[in-house]
Amino acid sequence: LGRHKDDRRAAHFTYNGVDFSQDSLHVFAGLCAVDTPEHVDMAMKAVADAGLTCTRMGAYKPRTNPYAFQGHGKDCLPWVFESAGHHGIKVVAMEVTHDQHVDEIHEALEAAGHPTGVMLQIGTRNTQNFELLKHVGRQKDYPVLLKRGFGITLEESLNAAEYLASEGNSRVIFCLRGMKTHLGDPHRNFVDFAHVPVVKRLTRMPVCIDPSHSVGSRAGSPDGIMDMMHTTAQGVIAGANMILLDIHPAPNKALVDGPQALRLEELPWFLEDVRLARETY
Ligand code: PEP
Repeated sequence: LGRHKDDRRAAHFTYNGVDFSQDSLHVFAGLCAVDTPEHVDMAMKAVADAGLTCTRMGAYKPRTNPYAFQGHGKDCLPWVFESAGHHGIKVVAMEVTHDQHVDEIHEALEAAGHPTGVMLQIGTRNTQNFELLKHVGRQKDYPVLLKRGFGITLEESLNAAEYLASEGNSRVIFCLRGMKTHLGDPHRNFVDFAHVPVVKRLTRMPVCIDPSHSVGSRAGSPDGIMDMMHTTAQGVIAGANMILLDIHPAPNKALVDGPQALRLEELPWFLEDVRLARETY
């Protein structure tokens, strides 16, 4: 990934027809947690209608509270992948928290005849789960979206990316998603999008931003969309190559993180703002 002195591999890659590099920009808008087939299909349709070819769908949800909804797991994979294929979605970013999840995704894609592609997401709680990193690093079939750890240094998070590459998978996108601080919490996590150019300078990885989890400030407020857009614009102007965004047809019915999700009808406004910010970059 550019950190090892002998590593001269190109950072750009193409997966399922989609190009990723330090110059590209892709928006992965979708459901934080898969809930019903209807909501999945509505979200996929909104994504496709907006001209996007990528989405995010959470089947396995690592939750702080053990009694909170943990995701439908492998049971939802057949209908999620079928809907993605139906709407022409090329890449679904999906978090995995265990080796077995990788196998389940692989089997479900095979069984469905590969209607879509999957980018394996490693969440902020697993950035230093070294055995998971090594396992995902051995998967040559799938690119990886690696979240920065929310309580560790940037350097430590970049080393996590190197775990993936050292096992053979250098198709890694590095995602900034905010950090914990000791300064109190007007937002869920302190936005760290100023690190976009830093990571691009230090490595050759494309860099993603996750305004939904780092801002998390929408909190049901009608004005919250502006916070989300302004924060996203900062990241895009700083050179982000990918945006992970929570959307939901009915945020008040979402089983995870509903308050931070944009409504489907807000997606085109969001994308227009992204387009304007990108012109400034
Ligand atoms: C997510 O993207 O669904 C998520 C839980 O993010 P993070 O790992 O950054 O908290």
